Amino acid sequence: MRCIECGALVGVDSPHGRPFCVACDAALPRWRRADGCPRCGSWRTRPLEANAACPGCLSLGSALHRCHALLRYEGAIRRIVPAFKNPRGPFGPPSVVARAVASLAREHGHRISSEASGQLDLIVSVPLHPRRQRQRGFNHVDPIAREIARALRLPFRPRLLARVRQTQTQASLAAVSRRDNVRGAFRVAQAFEGDLRIGLVDDVLTTGHTLEAAADCLLEAGALEVRALSLAATLPRSILRRGSRAGSRSATYAPAAPGGASASSGGAPGRDPVADVDRSIPHPEPPRLRSQESRCP
Ligand SMILES: [Zn+2]
Ligand SMILES: [Zn+2]
Repeated sequence: MRCIECGALVGVDSPHGRPFCVACDAALPRWRRADGCPRCGSWRTRPLEANAACPGCLSLGSALHRCHALLRYEGAIRRIVPAFKNPRGPFGPPSVVARAVASLAREHGHRISSEASGQLDLIVSVPLHPRRQRQRGFNHVDPIAREIARALRLPFRPRLLARVRQTQTQASLAAVSRRDNVRGAFRVAQAFEGDLRIGLVDDVLTTGHTLEAAADCLLEAGALEVRALSLAATLPRSILRRGSRAGSRSATYAPAAPGGASASSGGAPGRDPVADVDRSIPHPEPPRLRSQESRCP
């Protein structure tokens, strides 16, 4: 097996058995507490006390009790997620990229377990609208949520929430329109016991309005609290690491052009609109892929 980032041969010492070499695995940019509001995930626009909520959460509140993200949405993960979402590409679900996603989701689960031990009862995924799911063939968030649930030893209810309104891709909208775009987009499709603490899983947290809308819906249906569990979260371009390995190494994926597929989540009400625009890094189009066969014998 070869590392899907640099092409180096991956030996038995591959961390977590995932298709990265040790160096590329160590270089995955982990999300740090200081990267965003602990409640909604919003990156900080001004100095805040440690563990304090962002100004938006303090002034307007948030449907989210806490936000847990594993990675910053940059570098390898910014190529892996779009590749995983494209079922027609060579990196569809049963592929090496799926293995990478599953492994990262398990790591996320273990990290959440250490951060929020005993504080969750149920895992739920952010659903796609049925029409989009038919086009894609699957909800790419479900495999991520399933692995997180497995790591946390919690039940996973993939159909508890339903998307009742197809929304425009968040990245294509002005900041002020994004919240309206997803308002009322979800309904609870299956009954659940009240007073549950729910982990709500999405792939990438961007503006936060999707997760807020879904969390609102769960709270209205009787959930005790909702935590956002996002595999990755965006940062403003000014904070993103310079010289990301995206263009500087021989990667399995060609560098992806930004500006395409849907951004599905992230953020808080009441955020500074200017900051919101900066933060909303569009998901890239599925990357152009080199021949995987030649790299992974
Ligand atoms: Zn590597
Ligand atoms: Zn916040």
